[in-house]
Formats: sequence, C-alpha cells, structure tokens
Amino acid sequence: MSEVHIVGAGLAGTEIAYQLATRGVRVRIHEMRPKVMTPVHKTGYYAELVCSNSLKSLELRNASGLLKREMEILGSVIIKTAKETRVPSGKALAVDRDRFSSTLTDVITSLGVKVDNEEVEKIPDDSEIWVIATGPATSPKFSAYLEKIFSNWLYFFDAVAPIISAESIDFSKAFFANRYDPQGKDYLNCPLNEKEYDDFYTALIQAETVPLEDFDRGLLFERCMPVEEIARTGRMSLLYGPMKPVGLNDPQTNRRPYAVVQLRKEDEMGSLYNLVGFQTRLKWSEQKRLLRTVPALKNAEIVRYGVMHRNLYVDSRNVLDKYFRLKEDKRIFFAGQITGVEGYLESAASGLYVAMNICRVLKGLSPIELPRGTLMGALFRYVTSGRRKLRPMYASYGLLSPDGKSSLKRSNIAKESIKSLANFSEQIGWKVGGTVEDTTQRF
Ligand SMILES: Cc1cc2nc3c(=O)[nH]c(=O)nc-3n(C[C@H](O)[C@H](O)[C@H](O)COP(=O)(O)OP(=O)(O)OC[C@H]3O[C@@H](n4cnc5c(N)ncnc54)[C@H](O)[C@@H]3O)c2cc1C
Repeated sequence: MSEVHIVGAGLAGTEIAYQLATRGVRVRIHEMRPKVMTPVHKTGYYAELVCSNSLKSLELRNASGLLKREMEILGSVIIKTAKETRVPSGKALAVDRDRFSSTLTDVITSLGVKVDNEEVEKIPDDSEIWVIATGPATSPKFSAYLEKIFSNWLYFFDAVAPIISAESIDFSKAFFANRYDPQGKDYLNCPLNEKEYDDFYTALIQAETVPLEDFDRGLLFERCMPVEEIARTGRMSLLYGPMKPVGLNDPQTNRRPYAVVQLRKEDEMGSLYNLVGFQTRLKWSEQKRLLRTVPALKNAEIVRYGVMHRNLYVDSRNVLDKYFRLKEDKRIFFAGQITGVEGYLESAASGLYVAMNICRVLKGLSPIELPRGTLMGALFRYVTSGRRKLRPMYASYGLLSPDGKSSLKRSNIAKESIKSLANFSEQIGWKVGGTVEDTTQRF
C-alpha cells in the first residue's frame, strides 16, 4: 500500500497525520525542524505555536468559538490537545505552548507515523499523494521550487489593511460613491470633519506599532507603505493619499467632506469590507481604538486585523480546486496557511478537511465539500472561489451572512452550523467517537 506524504508538521500537517494514521492510512511526515529551522519556530516539536499561546475565544458568539466547536465535531486532535494543556485565560483557550506541542509530537510518534527529518526541496514525480503544509515560513529552497513550478501563482505580501464586518458599520453615517462619479457605488465613504480628522490623525501618529524583527524588516516599504508611516510624513499627507476627499460629495451635507475613510467590499456578498489604503502594522488594540474614532465605524468589528509580516501563500482561487487539490495535478493537496487561511486554528481546520478528502479518495470515493451553513465550509469556499485576488482570511461570522446583515442571531447561526456538521459527519461515516453527541448536547 502506498503512503501519504505530508510536508510540514505544523498545525495543519499534524492534524492531517493524526486523522489519517488513526484511520489506518500509512503516513510519512517530512519535517525539517530542528535540523533546519525557520525564522519563527524555536523548537523541533510538531504544531509549534510561533507567537501567541492563545487559540482565541471559546464563546460561540465569537467565530473562533464556533470554529473550535466545528473542529471538535470532526474530532480535531489540535482542539483535544489544547483543552488537555489549557492554562487559565478567562473565556479564551490558551495553552502551555511546550506541553501542547510536545504532547502532539508524542501522539503522532505513538501512532507509528514515519518521519523524514529533512528539508523537502521538491515534490517527486511519483504516483503518491503529497500534502504541502509548509506554512507561512516555507523554507526558501522549497519556496523557490514552488514559485518556479507554479510560475506566478505564489506571491508574498508585506502589509495588509484591516477587514471589518458589514453588520458593524453605521451605514447612516456613510455614503456609497466613487471619486468623481457619484453614480458609482463601489466605495463606501466614511466622512470626517476637520476636528474628527485631527483627532484621528493625532491618535494614529501616537499609536503603538508592532516591533519589527529581522524576519520582516527586509520587506518593509518594498510594496505598500503602512498608513501610520504616511501619516508621520506630515498632517496633510493622508489628505492627499488614502483619505483624500476630492471628487466626493457627502449627500447629507451636500459638501465635500474634509477627509474620508474609504471601504471596499471584500467579498462578492458584501458581508465584509476592507479599508482602502490602510495597510498597517499598528498593534491590534490600537487598530480597533483608531477605527472607532471614525463616526461610521464607531462600532466597527475588525474580522481581520492589518498585519505586516512575510507571508507565502498560494493563489488558491486559481490554482486549487475546492478540495484544496492542485488543479493540474490532483495527487497534490495543499493545507494550512499556505492555502490563504490565516491563524493557528484555521490552518488546523483546513488539515481536517484535507484529511477527510484524502480518506475518501483512498477509498475510491469522490471528494466532498463541507455543508454551506458551516463556518469551515464558508471559509474554505472563500479561499478557493471568487474572482478577486485572494487575501488571507480568518474565521468570521461575516463569512456566514450572505447579505452582509445578520438577520439571524449568531446563536442561531451557530446552532444550525453545529447541527448540520454533526449530521454531515454521521452521513459520510466520519467517525470520531463520542464527541459528536457530546458537542451538540453541550451547546
Ligand atoms: C510571525 C508570525 C506570527 C504569527 N502569530 C500568530 C498568532 O499569534 N495567532 C495565530 O492564530 N496565528 C499566528 N500566525 C499564523 C500561524 O503561524 C499560522 O497560521 C499557523 O502556524 C500556520 O500553520 P501551518 O500548519 O500552515 O504552518 P506551520 O505551523 O508554520 O507549519 C509549517 C511546518 O512546515 C515546516 N517546513 C517548512 N518548509 C519545509 C520544507 N521545505 N521541508 C520540510 N518542512 C518544512 C516548518 O518547519 C513547520 O513545522 C503567525 C504567523 C507568523 C509568521
């Protein structure tokens, strides 16, 4: 019987290895650490958390809580281990990072998974299934190979702007118009008067930024200037840059605003908006504080914060099918952050999905999508479909409200999602022991 090869034993690779090995599939992990380290990992453990030790909220009204519950229904070993190695942190799930990763390493080892402790530099031209799960810090040699093979399907970004949920915008204090084209409706303009602009500007230049490490210093300013850096060049700079009001008329005052923050739909459904030209490396708390000084964004809920770090991901919308397989070569799957999902749990969740479909393919069954009303299903659809350039995405309730307005309460959305995933898992015979029943009952 052939083996399934997993390149990278991070959050995604570890979840896949566990799911396959516990179902009797022969698995070989190719993990280069600790022999070759990445700039962000510090140990040789699998599923190392490179930054925060928090896996975010456990509450169902938070998308991260729902994601955990969905993963639990599908039998995630990452969630199980996180709960076993939990440290006190209120309603969040934070872990003892060493215990978390060393436990997972032991679990995988105890399953008899074979491990090649080498850096993979290319995918051999064999007939076996390979999963590329090398994450945001894919080794330079392998990145170079991937970029060469897949031409410009892979790309880097160095700074991104925050994305906010439509439901949290006060549309009564904003107006749709394109510059010099009041009939155009592509941009949602959030106006500020002079005093509001001054307050915003002062808050911006005083806000704290995330310290730069060697890891990302090389990429700074290469492509897009963070908004706080533009602001530092002078009070007027933003008024001639991303906040310029020219060509716009506020229908409420029938005058040109002093300044605007422009938003653009992030997805075709209009449930998410990104801030045009607001790429930033401000600390997350500062981003929230700053945005809330804009009247239309007083209650803004940021579903993806602006970040600045080197990040490698594949243009999944063009390169992968909806099951995360390479369109051109169906034996190669991608999983984890390299697919355009962002975050520890999102990466592990994509591993669950990939493992499920590898199992089906090995049994001669067709791969399958997750139900529509589930958060995991919505996230994976987001990264593999759509015409716009893919930007990495966290789990968010915005992905589940097709009209951008939450007509259904989050608790109802969560309930439906849990029910539908539990049924689905049962129907396809994805057996995970007692957790399905337990999980739905606990809701
Ligand atoms: C600086 C930084 C900070 C972050 N902070 C957070 C945070 O606080 N919270 C959060 O939710 N997310 C955070 N993320 C995102 C998070 O790291 C990823 O979402 C998550 O770890 C990705 O999981 P993964 O399995 O895709 O990749 P990883 O967990 O990175 O695993 C990839 C594995 O592949 C291995 N590998 C790479 N190249 C090769 C090769 N050629 N051959 C063999 N093995 C290889 C690596 O050693 C690694 O073990 C951060 C990312 C970065 C870069």
